[in-house]
Amino acid sequence: MAVEALFGKGRTLTPMKWLYQKGQYAAQEMVTLIGPRSRVISNLRILGPCRELNQVELALTDAIALGFEIPIRLSGNITGTPGCMLMGPNGFFEMKEGVIRAAPHVHMSPDDATFYGVKQGDYMKLRIGGPCATIFDRLLVRVHADFRLEVHIDTDEGNACALQSDTPVELLK
Ligand SMILES: [Zn+2]
Repeated sequence: MAVEALFGKGRTLTPMKWLYQKGQYAAQEMVTLIGPRSRVISNLRILGPCRELNQVELALTDAIALGFEIPIRLSGNITGTPGCMLMGPNGFFEMKEGVIRAAPHVHMSPDDATFYGVKQGDYMKLRIGGPCATIFDRLLVRVHADFRLEVHIDTDEGNACALQSDTPVELLK
């Protein structure tokens, strides 16, 4: 429904780049997000495939610049979160809720969970090396048969520890 409102009747998302998690992709389609004080972020990439709910994940720096006060939530847990207006080439779509800062988390398969001795909903630590070395103490564990081992943190979290593609990292129980 959101895709048709934004991009036109009959339109669906077009995969542009497949992500590491099975079946997940960055779409060609992009939207403009309009915040509470009419400030905007344009060229916001859409991730597919479509879900039952619409969700916008922002880093805190971007949220503050837009005038949002957003809670830290697990993806999909959006009850009571702020909404926003989205603008696409075909029109607008109002989200009543769904703007969050995603909780730092790690995806893993049941085999990975056994290896680390953790289960869905546990927290792990992520030790990050390099010149701004730090440890994230609350990395939420998400376990699913389709998941591949991958940590998801946002741009603020990555920039705070100067994360590069060759920065050494270690998952700790
Ligand atoms: Zn994730």
